[in-house]
Amino acid sequence: MTAKIIDGKAFAANVRARVAEHVARLNEVNGVTPGLAVVLVGEDPASEVYVRNKGKQTVAVGMNSYEHRLPAETTQAQLLELIDRLNADNDVHGILVQLPLPAHLDEALVINAIAPQKDVDGFHISNAGKLATGQKAMVPCTPLGCLMMLREMFGSLSGKNAVVVGRSNIVGKPMAQLLLRDSCTVTIAHSRTQDLGAVCRTADILVVAVGQPELIKGEHIKEGAVVIDVGMNRLTTEDGKAKLVGDVDFASARDRAGAITPVPGGVGPMTIACLLANTLTAACRIHGLSEPGDLTP
Ligand code: NDP
Repeated sequence: MTAKIIDGKAFAANVRARVAEHVARLNEVNGVTPGLAVVLVGEDPASEVYVRNKGKQTVAVGMNSYEHRLPAETTQAQLLELIDRLNADNDVHGILVQLPLPAHLDEALVINAIAPQKDVDGFHISNAGKLATGQKAMVPCTPLGCLMMLREMFGSLSGKNAVVVGRSNIVGKPMAQLLLRDSCTVTIAHSRTQDLGAVCRTADILVVAVGQPELIKGEHIKEGAVVIDVGMNRLTTEDGKAKLVGDVDFASARDRAGAITPVPGGVGPMTIACLLANTLTAACRIHGLSEPGDLTP
């Protein structure tokens, strides 16, 4: 079997187009323009690229983008003071603090200082708790993007066996919660899982988020399964070129899977598209307006 390649770029373009339509209507009917504030501390080159892309895409869908670039030596108190200001700013509906933060800053403290209704990354403890207990939450962008692609492909996910490899707070755990909410039978695997291959082979839906280049091979995949590769690993080839690979060995996996996301061009583009969707959702909720049902889980 040769897997269908899931075109994350096309999915993301579709999500952005829908966001742009909602934003235009919100502006015209309610006079509201959603605004996203992105805070970058320090000069991490990868983070710089992400922040620039986020800013461009925010403006492209008709929202306001506010970038706050702070020096690496910014103190905890200075960062918290900025977050307080953004929490109180009526033009800002979404706040994203680009991670990782420099080591002297306490990430959990900073994230939990964001007003939960403006926490468009969905990392605030109250949003994590709401997701886990089935309440309306801001949902982390990467798992939300994976869920949207899976729903589009399967329609109903009810009764599917889903295996999520990785149990981080930003990908694995919320991904498992979302699949459970859609009535999958969910297994979470991690670095201590025994016989990872056997666990993975039970999956109709296999989501891999481990940060280990090409860990999952074709032999770990059930014939016809849908494979979502969240991994983004930057490698250097023998001739010194930069190469991005996933957590799944694409070459062997595509001979077994029914469908698979490539890296790049799979989950990555959906993550930013879902950030825009979350900012729109936050703006609607903050203003007490009906939310875009097609863009929320
Ligand atoms: P973390 O490092 O926070 O978590 C990795 C998880 O993988 C842990 O739960 C760990 O288990 C598990 N793990 C590590 N090695 C193995 C192994 N050999 N077998 C089984 N499980 C293992 O990573 P993130 O969740 O933040 O990110 C995962 C990947 O997704 C990375 O490549 C990252 O770059 C990418 N990513 C991509 C995004 C996108 O937009 N496409 C967004 C966010 C992340 P344990 O808990 O036991 O240590």
